[in-house]
Amino acid sequence: MKNTYAMPPYKIKMIEPIRLIGKEERILRLKEAGYNPFKLRSEDVFIDLLTDSGTGAMSHFQWGALMQGDESYAGSTSYYRLESVVKNITGYQYIMPAHQGRGAEQVVIPALLKHPGMIFISNTHFDTTRAHVEIAGAIALDAPTKESCETLKFHPFKGNFDLIKLEDIIKSYKKENIAGIIVTITNNSVGGQPVSMENIRAVRKIANHYGIKVIIDGARYAENSYFIKLRETEFSNKSVRDIAKETFSYADIFLMSAKKDGLVNIGGLIAIRDDFELFRQCQTRIVPMEGFPTYGGLAGRDMEALAVGLDEALSEDYLAYRLDEVKFLGDRLREAGVPIQYPTGGHAVFVDCGLMCPHIPYDEFPAQAVTNELYLEGGVRAVEIGSLLLGRDPQSGINRKADQEFMRLTIPRRTYTFQHLEYVAETLIKVYQRRDKIKGLKFDYESPILRHFTSTFTPKN
Ligand SMILES: *Cc1c(COP(=O)(O)O)cnc(C)c1O
Repeated sequence: MKNTYAMPPYKIKMIEPIRLIGKEERILRLKEAGYNPFKLRSEDVFIDLLTDSGTGAMSHFQWGALMQGDESYAGSTSYYRLESVVKNITGYQYIMPAHQGRGAEQVVIPALLKHPGMIFISNTHFDTTRAHVEIAGAIALDAPTKESCETLKFHPFKGNFDLIKLEDIIKSYKKENIAGIIVTITNNSVGGQPVSMENIRAVRKIANHYGIKVIIDGARYAENSYFIKLRETEFSNKSVRDIAKETFSYADIFLMSAKKDGLVNIGGLIAIRDDFELFRQCQTRIVPMEGFPTYGGLAGRDMEALAVGLDEALSEDYLAYRLDEVKFLGDRLREAGVPIQYPTGGHAVFVDCGLMCPHIPYDEFPAQAVTNELYLEGGVRAVEIGSLLLGRDPQSGINRKADQEFMRLTIPRRTYTFQHLEYVAETLIKVYQRRDKIKGLKFDYESPILRHFTSTFTPKN
C-alpha cells in the first residue's frame, strides 16, 4: 500500500466477528431475498456496504457517556447537554432531537407548506426527503450541477446547485409557490459529493432575493466542511468547525440524520435559526410524531452519545482518514478501469453501472443487477442508487430514468480496515471482468413507495 493515505487516528478495542458463507449458500440466500439485498440477513453478508447510516463504531467516550443518560421524560439533562453542543456548532436558537433524519423531515416539511402543490428545490433530494415532500402533497424538484453527471471527469464540487436552473425554477413556478430550497450536504444521491461555500453563498443570495427559506439537509455536514477546507483556497487555514458554522449561517433550518456525521447508531436533529413561529409549530407537531420536544424519540443515553459524537466528527484527523478510506477504494477500482463517480465523495464510492453494463436497459435496473453479482461473487453487500430508487412519476406512473445508474459502496464510519476495502475492490473487479454476461431484472413484487427497500425481482433470461 502506498503510504499516501491518512492513518486512522484510533485503535481497535472491541471486535465483532464476520463470516463469509459459501458460494452455494449465497446463491440460495439471494434467491430467497427476492434478488433484493435489503432483504438479506446481515449474518449472510461478509462486508456490509449497504449504508453508512447508523452502522459506524462509537468511541469509548461515547460508550462512557451512554451510562450518564438521564431518562427523564421531560427536561432531561441529556437533552440540555445535546442542545448546548448543537447550538455551539450551528449558532441556531431552537434545537429538537428526532429519532432519525426522516423523523425530523416528517415534523418540519409539512410545517413549511402554506397551500397544496408547493415546490421544494434541492441540489438533489435524498430519497426519504423526496418521499416526505410528496407525502405532504408538495413537489420535489432537483437542480444539480451538470458536472454531477460527468462521472469520469474531475470536478471539485459536483454536489453544487446549478444556480441558473435553480433561479429558472423559482421564476417559472413563482416565488410564492416555493416552500424552500433544500441544500443537501454532501449531495448523497450524486455520489456524496461536496457543495462549495461559494455555491451555498450564492443560494442564500438567491433565496434572499425571492424571500425563500433555506434548509440544510446536513447528514454529512462535517465531511462537506472538510472538503471545503481541502478544495476551496479561501478556507485552507480555517478550522472545520468554523467552516461548518459559516455554512449554517447561510440557512434558516438544519435537518440532520445523526446516524451519519453524528457518529451514532440512531438519532436525528432539527435546528431552527430564529423563526419562533416555525419552532412553535414544529414543537406542536413533534409530540404526536416523535415524542416530547426534549427527547424526540431518543433515549437520554442516545442524546448523550450524540452530544459526544457530533464533536468527534469535527475532528480533522478523523475526517482526513475518513475521506481517504473512500478514496483508497476508489483508487483501486479506477486502476482496474471500473467507472466510478470521480473524484470520490465523502461516504461512499459510486460505481456507474450504466457505463459498466450499457446492455441492460434502465428499467431492468443495471445497478441492482451488479449489486446482486457483487454479493454472489464475494458476500459484499452494496446498494442501488439509480432508476429503481428513483421510482415512478407520481402523476404518470412511468418509471423515472435516473441520470446515472449507480451502485453505492458505502463505508461505515470507523468500522472496516483497508484490508477489507482491498477485498471489496478485488471482488468487484472480478464482477467487472465478466460484466457483459450480467442480466437485468424484472419485478416480482413492486412496493408503491420507496420501492427499493421491499420489492422483489427475478433475473431476466
Ligand atoms: C440518511 C439521510 C436522510 C434520512 O435520514 P434517516 O436517518 O435515514 O432517516 C436524509 N437526508 C440525507 C441527505 C441522508 O443522507
